[in-house]
Amino acid sequence: AAASSGGLVAYADSGSDAAVEKPQLPPRKKVVVLGTGWGGTTFLRNLDSRLYDVQVISPRNYFAFTPLLPSVTSGTVEPRSIVEPIRRILEKKGGEIKFWEAECFKIDPQSKKIHCRSNVGTNLEGNGEFSVDYDYLVVAVGARTNTFNTPGVVENCHFLKEVEDAQKIRRSVMDCFERASLPFLNEEERKKNLHFVVVGGGPTGVEFAASLHDFVTEDLSKLYPSVQHLVKISLIEAADHILTMFDKRITNFAEDKFGRDGIDVKTGYKVVKVSKDDITMQNPATGDISVPYGMAVWSTGIGTRPFVVEFMKQIGQANRRVLATDEWLRVRECDGVYAIGDCATINQRKVMEDISEIFRVADKDKSGTLTVKEIQDILDDIYVRYPQVQLYLKSKQMNGIADLVRSAKGDAEKESMELNIEEFKKALALVDSQVKFLPATAQVASQQGQYLARCFNKMKDAEENPEGPIRIRGEGRHRFRPFRYRHLGQFAPLGGEQTAAQLPGDWISIGHSTQWLWYSVYATKQISWRTRMLVVSDWTRRFIFGRDSSC
Ligand code: FAD
Ligand code: MG
Ligand code: MG
Ligand code: MG
Ligand code: MG
Repeated sequence: AAASSGGLVAYADSGSDAAVEKPQLPPRKKVVVLGTGWGGTTFLRNLDSRLYDVQVISPRNYFAFTPLLPSVTSGTVEPRSIVEPIRRILEKKGGEIKFWEAECFKIDPQSKKIHCRSNVGTNLEGNGEFSVDYDYLVVAVGARTNTFNTPGVVENCHFLKEVEDAQKIRRSVMDCFERASLPFLNEEERKKNLHFVVVGGGPTGVEFAASLHDFVTEDLSKLYPSVQHLVKISLIEAADHILTMFDKRITNFAEDKFGRDGIDVKTGYKVVKVSKDDITMQNPATGDISVPYGMAVWSTGIGTRPFVVEFMKQIGQANRRVLATDEWLRVRECDGVYAIGDCATINQRKVMEDISEIFRVADKDKSGTLTVKEIQDILDDIYVRYPQVQLYLKSKQMNGIADLVRSAKGDAEKESMELNIEEFKKALALVDSQVKFLPATAQVASQQGQYLARCFNKMKDAEENPEGPIRIRGEGRHRFRPFRYRHLGQFAPLGGEQTAAQLPGDWISIGHSTQWLWYSVYATKQISWRTRMLVVSDWTRRFIFGRDSSC
């Protein structure tokens, strides 16, 4: 666990009454949170802020409900409806938390300091730079869009990551229609302006293409009747299919639906260059082709923010792609630093790395062999510490560890079979193949924020009493169970009031009723009653009057 700085005794808030009454009270530990997105905000909402001196730093003074960003691009939902000021969120916590609107540009883990720059005033002293000390640092800064260094992308494409991006896209769509309607353009030029290209067939690219298609067919076609037949939407994906993270049935349904809708799905094409007028893509069969376009949205995945890359170099993670944490969300080799959400990934410990230790712990009678009973006794700990074991048993349709032992022994007869270390290794040899990386979703980030807040709320207790319920582990003893992700399902809105959903237990549901499920889930998940009201009234307005097309 994070060692405390220790030995330091000072008075808490020296001016306050509490300090006078209890002069022996040590100062509250400083918690610094970077980021006010899904991870950071959920952490803050769940943290008992009386226990710590909390400071929040983010270049955006609001939380944005990202799943509704694609709806903002078409004007189905207003930008205002999906943001909640961070100060309002903090105010509900009793105003004990401080917020600084600034960007962190350097983490110094040796002196436990972060360096920040204000982005609201350039006339400030020292360029608005300041540093903040921490005892615990929660890094929840999310990711940036990854262009894979493709030339021309930054200059010519839109991203869809922030609220401003969605607003810009909406304006740009309208501009394309207005340009295409000007009197002096020829047919080719009109077509070019009305060619909308979406690069990336993941959930965001697909949802955006679908919502753009709805916007065009349901609203804009009425307003621009003379050019509506020239509109084309292309969706470009380098892999063989779109929505590859979903079940095959959803992928097929989406590809068929887009085909019927006239969205040109180009799979197996990789975009290699974007210029002001053309997009160049590559396919082994056709070679390079260039197509003129009016507007392009780039949505091909995420990358690590530069200052996080720097930090990774400092702490010996230079060869990794994403900041790694252990299952307690602690950044390894970095006292007091935690990372959650899109900026981090959990490095799940492998059974095979700890196999001798597991054997030693399980072999209570020191006989040098394990009985099924001995394994059974520590099974709960194994499952908690190494969730891949359970996943492996499930994937092999085994009922318990006894089945695994039997399969390793190749002998179903004897009840009292015993395993030596070699046999034990053989039995578990393949379980690590089931280690899963968590997806970069709001669901993961918010569950991690909630988990971490609960750990923080119990941290003091745990430091005084570190013996935890988990006994098998590679490094020391822990009071807390490791983070465990619970997948609640994922939606893929496909336009035309149809949505696909993949729910737990590989339950697939597709169609209009799933769209209603989507509406109700996203209404429920709103961060406040205010945004919930606004979002629902935006939807209602859209049903009655259609989408607004002024900009
Ligand atoms: P973010 O929510 O991105 O928050 C990062 C925060 O860090 C921001 O407040 C940012 O301003 C701040 N920050 C950035 N740089 C710094 C810095 N240098 N110093 C301090 N602060 C900094 N997920 C789902 O589960 N379901 C969906 O339907 C879904 N739809 C999506 C649609 C779109 C268009 C997008 C873009 C994402 C969608 N996601 C969805 C993914 C989801 O938004 C992310 O996984 C989630 O936001 C990750 O949370 P986070 O806290 O790690 O990062
Ligand atoms: Mg965050
Ligand atoms: Mg967010
Ligand atoms: Mg992550
Ligand atoms: Mg034994």
